[in-house]
Amino acid sequence: MNAPEGSQVNESQKVNILMVDDQPAKLLSYEAILAGLDANLIKARSGREGLELLLKHDVAVVLLDVSMPEINGFEMADMMRQHPRFQKTAILFISAVRMSDVDRIKGYQSGAVDYISVPVVPEVLRAKVAVFAELHRKSRELEHLNRELEERVEQRTFELRESEGQARERADLLELASEAILVRDLAGEVQYWNAGAEALYGWERHQVLGKPAHQVLETEFPVDAASIESALINEGRWHGNLIQQTRDGHEVIVASRQVLKKEAGSILEINRDITAQTRAEEALRRTEKLAAMGRVAGIIAHEINNPLEAITNAFYLLRNHPSLDEEARYYAQLGEEELARVCHITKQTLGFYRESQHPVDVSIAGLLDEVLQLQMRQLQLTRIALDKKYFSNGTVRGFPVELRQVFFNLIGNAIQAMPEGGRLRIRMGDRWNEAVGRTDLVISVCDTGTGVRPEHAKHLFEPFFTTKSSKGTGLGLWISKGIIQKYDGTIQFRSIPFKGGNITAFRVTLPGAAPTAQVIAGTDHSTADEIVRVALGQT
Ligand code: ADP
Ligand code: MG
Repeated sequence: MNAPEGSQVNESQKVNILMVDDQPAKLLSYEAILAGLDANLIKARSGREGLELLLKHDVAVVLLDVSMPEINGFEMADMMRQHPRFQKTAILFISAVRMSDVDRIKGYQSGAVDYISVPVVPEVLRAKVAVFAELHRKSRELEHLNRELEERVEQRTFELRESEGQARERADLLELASEAILVRDLAGEVQYWNAGAEALYGWERHQVLGKPAHQVLETEFPVDAASIESALINEGRWHGNLIQQTRDGHEVIVASRQVLKKEAGSILEINRDITAQTRAEEALRRTEKLAAMGRVAGIIAHEINNPLEAITNAFYLLRNHPSLDEEARYYAQLGEEELARVCHITKQTLGFYRESQHPVDVSIAGLLDEVLQLQMRQLQLTRIALDKKYFSNGTVRGFPVELRQVFFNLIGNAIQAMPEGGRLRIRMGDRWNEAVGRTDLVISVCDTGTGVRPEHAKHLFEPFFTTKSSKGTGLGLWISKGIIQKYDGTIQFRSIPFKGGNITAFRVTLPGAAPTAQVIAGTDHSTADEIVRVALGQT
């Protein structure tokens, strides 16, 4: 083991032993004695050199000759002990046995000091150095373990703090959510209840924790509890609409998403209040149905009214006919009176159909905006981009309620045709109608939705034709057509496949209020042109 000064051989495992002696021959003999120890041997020829090497290496034992010129062994030991790094470094003095020396050596308080008398007995030197070296190795290992432990503790503390922070952050987010968020255990008892749930249901957290959630909310499920449970167990999730009761007894309809958290043994439930939306949709369907009934009644009344008038006239003539005797005249009068009642009923029904007797100036632009405003939420929800341009005020003389119904249905149909989002394009402009010599108002509603299947095309305006099963009445277009025809207008549509999707355009033409010849550039409309323009993304 011939180690040069400052040797780096496998430092991590071997300990360093520094040998300080002014006589090279002695250094060589120590080297020979210690060669059997698995250590790096570093040699210094003076106390000064010894101190320099100490600074460079992590030394386990210093073998120190007491009698050296310049700085002797004791002086070097004193200097070492003043340095914090070397206060515990083991020192093995080599000295001729002089009592004064022995006393002085005993004066060192630290235990890691010993001495060897000259002449050196190799076994003794080797044994003493080996003990110190082992001691050093052990304490170095211990230090290393300690450091590792500290690091691990630190890392774990950091992780804990981190996950605590994340959990807090997540909890904050849950609190901010406008949805009602609750966590219930597998027995159904509430474990967590966010601010959104407090706001929606009116129950505060402390009032419901530990209580059966769906009992408190008197939940009505759309399917039986067992099938929800099996969906949660098999697929890990379930969603559907629930009807629930708030604390003050109001009914709310929520769109509910539930997820099973297997590891936590709980169910996370996120409920969005869709009461207003559902009610609005129901109301809309009801109005459409009512309007349809009104129209049916109107048509029947109208059909009956003409023959009734003829019969009334006939009875009038009959009653005063000179050939009738007293009894026959009585019966004729009775018939006439009953007839008058029937006439009254049909007139009333006709009145119900006509919403108002007096037409007014209706701004179609205002009307379209109103309808769009009503549908705005739906547009945003389904991510439909709205692109609307009005090239005209669009004033028409008529009845606002029925006209609004036409555009409500057209825009509603377009939105319903784009459940995955798309583009809703609305245009309105004047067009000079050469054939009749007047300006017409043209309104078009285009969508990039499902399109109309060719086999359905000719049925669209028929009553009760719908492809929306229970969600549709199939009366919207039929009613719209009837209304537009009353205005002497037309309603048409085209639907074509385009770029893997479809473009559907509905066009309503209404005779303008004022017979002027103003034509606004670029608003020449035909449904086919419309479709091409939408396809090319032009206005
Ligand atoms: P409803 O909307 O109640 O179904 P409508 O008379 O308004 O009744 O429409 C009849 C049918 O016409 C719809 O069910 C649908 O199949 C079709 N339809 C109407 N508008 C569109 C459109 N923009 N895109 C695709 N299909 C449409
Ligand atoms: Mg409709």
